Amino acid sequence: MFEHIQQPICDQKVQLDSTIELVIKRLDLIHPEISGNKFYKLKYNLLEAKRLGKKRIISFGGAYSNHIAATAYAAKLFGFECIGIIRGEELANKPLNHTLATAERHAMKLEYVSREKYRHKNQAEFLKELLEKYPESYIIPEGGTNALAIQGCQEILSAQDLEYDYIACAVGTGGTISGIIEASQDHQKILGFSSLKGDFLKQEISQWTQKTNWQITDQYCFGGYAKFSPELLNFIDEFEQKYQIPLDPVYTGKMCFGIFELLKQDYFPKHSRILLIHSGGLQGKGAKH
Ligand SMILES: *Cc1c(COP(=O)(O)O)cnc(C)c1O
Repeated sequence: MFEHIQQPICDQKVQLDSTIELVIKRLDLIHPEISGNKFYKLKYNLLEAKRLGKKRIISFGGAYSNHIAATAYAAKLFGFECIGIIRGEELANKPLNHTLATAERHAMKLEYVSREKYRHKNQAEFLKELLEKYPESYIIPEGGTNALAIQGCQEILSAQDLEYDYIACAVGTGGTISGIIEASQDHQKILGFSSLKGDFLKQEISQWTQKTNWQITDQYCFGGYAKFSPELLNFIDEFEQKYQIPLDPVYTGKMCFGIFELLKQDYFPKHSRILLIHSGGLQGKGAKH
């Protein structure tokens, strides 16, 4: 059912003034609505929901969640009803932002919960309550990360990609990088650029993979999730002008900023070959938070 969505992925070379080869894998071009890594994260979850004969998909997210926007579209495509549990009761009385308007347009039913309640989104009691209200539902966690998502993200890398020395990607919940790590070869180094502040993602990723050929840093998170500075926004504008590749300020902008800082610091040995995963996320740009 996803066959007609998946278009050929375009690997685009970024010309650098050095011996280093930098290539960007444009997952952002896969599909305008189910963009980037979210396609891979949803694929096996929706197939499983179908197999189980479920009627509905329920998932969770904040007002700018790329996962919510992608899930709304993908669920509709698969013929599911879809409920989005959205963080922040106050949003119910506000005009919809770009992300939520998109989700609603794709027939997602938005249900707003308080920040306090949202914190319990993974707890059995809250999930039980949801399933009583919406029976025959398949629940996908916030950000879409679970074992089936990681299985899907293993398909991001092609056979040729196993020749790169480094593979870099943006990290939110850690699902995407976990799949990439699992699919990688031991000689490759996987670099994760966290969009969130803090050390907890190391533990999170270690739950999904036994491999050790990876590193994660929050040094380029610009203070935390969805935080940014004029320096980051300038970088994104210049990058787009120079290479005709759009980036978002929450994920891919921070990763590319981090890579260019590391290049400046001569972090990579000469003649290194680096693959950057462009994980999409451009739908949120319409919202400019
Ligand atoms: C959701 C998202 C990520 C984070 O993926 P995780 O699997 O949660 O780490 C990275 N980049 C973009 C553009 C995203 O939308």
